[in-house]
Formats: sequence, structure tokens, C-alpha cells
Amino acid sequence: MTDTDFHLESTYSRLPEVFFSKLSPTPVSDPEIVIFNDKLACEIGWDLSDMSEDSRVALLAGNLIPDGTEPLAQAYAGHQFGHFTMLGDGRAILLGEHLAPSGQRLDIQFKGSGRTPYSRGGDGRAALGPMLREYVISEAMHALKIPTTRSLAVVTTGEKVYRETELPGAILTRIASSHIRVGTFQYAALHEDKAIMKALVDYLIDRHFPLIKEKEDQPLALLEAIIEQQADLITHWMRVGFIHGVMNTDNMALSGETIDYGPCAFMDTFGPDTVFSSIDHGGRYAYANQPNLAQWNLARLAECLLPVLDEKIDKAKAMAEDVLRSFDALFQGKWFTMMRSKLGLHKENTDNNDLATDLLDWMHESEADFTNTFLDLMKEQTPPKGAAYNDEKFKQWHARWESQLEKEDQPFESCLALMQNSNPTVIPRNHKVEEALQAADKDDLQPFHELLSALDKPYENGDQLKPYQSPPKPDEKVQQTFCGT
Ligand code: AMP
Ligand code: MG
Repeated sequence: MTDTDFHLESTYSRLPEVFFSKLSPTPVSDPEIVIFNDKLACEIGWDLSDMSEDSRVALLAGNLIPDGTEPLAQAYAGHQFGHFTMLGDGRAILLGEHLAPSGQRLDIQFKGSGRTPYSRGGDGRAALGPMLREYVISEAMHALKIPTTRSLAVVTTGEKVYRETELPGAILTRIASSHIRVGTFQYAALHEDKAIMKALVDYLIDRHFPLIKEKEDQPLALLEAIIEQQADLITHWMRVGFIHGVMNTDNMALSGETIDYGPCAFMDTFGPDTVFSSIDHGGRYAYANQPNLAQWNLARLAECLLPVLDEKIDKAKAMAEDVLRSFDALFQGKWFTMMRSKLGLHKENTDNNDLATDLLDWMHESEADFTNTFLDLMKEQTPPKGAAYNDEKFKQWHARWESQLEKEDQPFESCLALMQNSNPTVIPRNHKVEEALQAADKDDLQPFHELLSALDKPYENGDQLKPYQSPPKPDEKVQQTFCGT
């Protein structure tokens, strides 16, 4: 491949001009590739291996813009911790859209690529640690079979960024189905121009919900589809103990992918009110609050869509409220199905649902490890070994579980298979992530590569995973995570 052999499209730039600003990344002085995701490059058919090393580095640093490419920064707004703000890509540039062999259209975006008209007071840059953090957690989420943006590469810029201390600057190449957010709709709504809103609705339907084009009431069908998709996504997060940490409306992508990995973290000990983010003082985005917050964000989206839902505002409001109200039952249904799967129970009934909630109650009281409790249940049918399980309440629960499994009319193998597909053997535990990032800060990428490889097949087990499966010792516990902006 020569330097400009590939062609990136830009359908986004056909939206009304208010939605973006065309500009290129700010060149950096001395870029170096820290990590490149060959497997992903191959999967999406964006193979850069024929480029000279210099050109490849220059491309991933934003120093080389292929001919015919029209980079842009996207405009958006959003509620951050409940407060409305004008935002936009303040430190990201969309290089263009790449068509994968699967036919999927993918955004290629640089994060940390310099100032834009939306940078407000910020420097437009990113530090190495947080970009590696996004890389490892997004790739782990993908391996966990959870919709997510992906990470193609991290380069250092050769320049420093200044946060509390001086840190090495870096740029992440993010691959996403798109970067349209609830906040993009909030931004469109500010213009109070139906044509602008209609253009965004049509674009989103074209790009992500083509089946809706056949429908009569397209904006309503779109809202319904998005509600369903977000209920699915949050159910996945709950399944693996993922806490996003900043579920602001600008961080909710309407592709249905998990996006914007900042202070996100996986829970070790089960606790519904678990929070890691240093900026989430009120616990707004705590583990068990995530479904409520998704619904809150969806309500903000519905408000934006009112003018296109119906000419008569009262009717539009009634339609939106009806759909929003459906979220609770929809989510609850998905959540119970997911929890039953974690217990290997196919049958939908109250006894099975109660088993799920009662186990969580016990785990909460006994401060059990979320991931490992389910792993232990998969090990054997008799009560699992270990001091924590030598508890009357647990034993009673376990006997009920066994009796429900017997009522399954299915061989135990098929229940076990259901559990194996629902319960990860390994998650990116905070202390292992921090350990890898601290080593990377000292130019030792070995632990980072080992961590990536341990997280590659999280539904398989093996001795090599042992160091990544143990909960942190008291002195290893990570109490807080940071967004690194
Ligand atoms: P985030 O917390 O990463 O979702 O970012 C929230 C908003 O702040 C987005 O509009 C970002 O583009 C912007 N932002 C974050 N960090 C920076 C930075 N260093 N320079 C400029 N804008 C930033
Ligand atoms: Mg964001």
C-alpha cells in the first residue's frame, strides 16, 4: 500500500454544516507507535502493513493526511452530571469512514489530536496512561462480547501534556460504528429547526437502523429501537460488573456501543452502590444506578425528538412518555433473563428470578467477589468449597438452586453451557490494569501485553489466567479511578 492508497469516505460531512468543523489534527513533533492492533486491522480490512514505518507512524499521529480525506471535529452538547453544556470533539478528530469487508461503515477517529473549535479551555491532548487504559478496556469489552468502540493503535507524540503532573502525550486511534451521541441530538435540538433535526434522524436511521426506513412512523420507531438497544447494552454491563463511570448524555452512543472509556472500572466485591470515578461524588453513576441513568438519558433524547414525533406537541409528548415508560419492564425482562443465564436456568418463572435476586443479596451481605462467585458455582454442583460458602444462608440458597436445576428438563451440560457463555472467567480487574499502566509509564510494556493476552478469551479457563482471576489483596485495592482529561 502506498501512503494514499486507501480511500476514506465522509458521509457525516453531508449533514448540515452546523454539525461539524472541518480541520486536521495538529501535527506532533516526534511520534512513536506504542501498540498497534494487527488483529483488528486485519478484521476491518484496514491493513497498513505495506506502508513504510515512517508513513504509518505519521498517519496514526495525525501528521499525514491521505489525499482526498477531509478530517472533521463533531459538534455536540450534553448533560454532564445533570447539567447541560455545549461540548463537541474538543480533543478528537474524525479522519474519515472506512468500509470494512463486512460492509460495515466504521469511523476512524484520533483521540488526543490537538485543539478544535470545541476545546473550550482544554489543550486538545491526551496522556499515555488514559489512552492505554481505553485500549485495554475497550478490547476486553469486545472479547466479553459487549458492543463497544475498538482501539487500533496508541502512539506517543514526543510532547508532554500537563495535568497534575507532566505526562507523556499520546493519541489513540479509535474505531467506532459511529460517534453519534444523545448529545448530538441535544445539539441539533438547540437550533430549533425541524430540517436540522430531520437530517440527523434520517442520517442515524440510514446508518444504523435501515429497517426503520420501511416504517410509517420513523422517529417513533427509532426511539423504540434505541431504547431496546440501550437496555441490551446496560444488561451486558450489569452481567460483567462494568461501571462506566460517566454516563453523561454525550457519552451515550446511538450505535449502541459502549463509548468514552474514562474512569470506568469493573467491580471486584459485589456492591450495588459501587463507584470508582473520582468525580462521581454523589454516586450518580454507581453500578446499580446505570439502568436508571440510561433511562434518564433516553428521556433527554426523547425530548429532542418531540418536534419530529408529531405536529401536535401534546400528542408527541404522550407518544414519547409511552415509549419511555416501557424501558422499566423491558430492562427488567432482559436483566432477569441475563441473571438466569448466569445461573444456568433456561426457564422463566418467579422461583428462578427469586434465586437471582437472593444470590445477589447474599453476595452483598457477605462481600463476595462478583465474577468469582459465578465461576465457583460452575465448578461443581455440590456447594462450592471455601470459607465464604460455609454459611447457612448460602447453603440454603444452593439447595434451592440445585432443585431448580433439576426442574430444567435439560441435561446439566446444557445449563453449564449457558453459564459458561454468560460468566467471564476473567475481567480487567482494576489492580491489574493499574499495575500494567504503571509499568508502561516506565517504558515497560510487558505487563500490558500480558494483560491484553489474558483478557483475549474471557469465556475460557486455564492456569495462565490465575494471576488475573484473584481479587486484589487489601493493599492492592484501587479505590478511585480518574478520567484523565
Ligand atoms: P470526556 O470526559 O472525555 O467525555 O470529555 C468531555 C468533553 O470534554 C468532550 O467535549 C471532550 O472533547 C472535552 N475534552 C476532554 N479533554 C479535553 C482536552 N484535554 N482538551 C480539550 N477538550 C477536552
Ligand atoms: Mg465524552
